[in-house]
Amino acid sequence: HAKHAFLDGLCFYDAGIGALVRKRRQLAEALRHALEHDELDVHYQAQMSLSTGKVQGYEALLRWTHPQLGPISPSEFIPVAEENGLIGSLGVWVLRRACMDAAAWDPPCRVAVNVSAVQFMDASLPRLVHEVLLETGLPPQRLELELTETALIKDKARSLHIIRQIKALGVGLALDDFGSGYSSLETLRSFPFDKIKLDRGFVDGIEQDRQSKAIVRAVLALGKSLDIPVLAEGIETDEQMSVLRLEGCDEGQGYLLGRPTPVGDLAHKSGPAPMVPPRQHRVA
Ligand code: C2E
Ligand code: MG
Ligand code: MG
Ligand code: MG
Repeated sequence: HAKHAFLDGLCFYDAGIGALVRKRRQLAEALRHALEHDELDVHYQAQMSLSTGKVQGYEALLRWTHPQLGPISPSEFIPVAEENGLIGSLGVWVLRRACMDAAAWDPPCRVAVNVSAVQFMDASLPRLVHEVLLETGLPPQRLELELTETALIKDKARSLHIIRQIKALGVGLALDDFGSGYSSLETLRSFPFDKIKLDRGFVDGIEQDRQSKAIVRAVLALGKSLDIPVLAEGIETDEQMSVLRLEGCDEGQGYLLGRPTPVGDLAHKSGPAPMVPPRQHRVA
């Protein structure tokens, strides 16, 4: 009897996994279809200098609206694309689209494009980036690639080789979600990043807990001594914003400063009107 119950449980468990696998497979199929039928779009979120309030660039964020299922989050479909061999074509599509859009913006406005771990390990990435830059006419200085540490730590020598080729093109590199992984400091030490993107988890806690604030401070000090600008992700409130400016954070991004927006609706490119007053200096 007990054995029966166990088997029942097992069957139920298997059905659960089966359903999940089926769902992922369906999602992969739908994504393949989406790529071919123009269901994908790129939205842009402003990255702002916290001292001048000027837009420095925009991060390209993939958007997928399925005709029946509605909008599906990239956190959900990017892993599916990685597992099903679709990330390559998806990645090129976003890169080409983002560079094409950015080529029309007022210089020196940049575009930042996310590169997934799987996409990054493809040795042809530098050549691909080079081709897209030539094709779209975007100057390399106006493109930045965002990488997370998971993309890099699996094979350091290989990663470094790819990174050096990308940097040789003149393209910038940002370390995304800094602090949320296992070896952020090691990653920072091993690879020549041009920007640190402080994970929004720390920004989120900055008003409430001492720990988050202390960590933000330490990361900003680290950035200063390494001479790497720090961008704070996920700024949602005025209070978070004023703490970050007071602490000397270089750049910010978040719903408070601007939501991800379709390219046609971007209010201004590198527009001259500062949105925030100049940074207040801390009184020692
Ligand atoms: P990410 O690169 O860290 O992007 C930031 C995410 O935070 C975006 O979510 C953005 O919409 C969201 N965000 C921005 N400001 C705020 C805020 O103030 N509060 C909160 N709660 N969230 C905010 P999104 O667009 O859903 O993308 C999620 C992740 O999916 C991205 O994280 C990135 O890892 C991945 N992703 C998005 N687009 C692409 C792409 O084109 N290629 C690849 N490989 N990955 C992508
Ligand atoms: Mg990013
Ligand atoms: Mg991030
Ligand atoms: Mg993320």
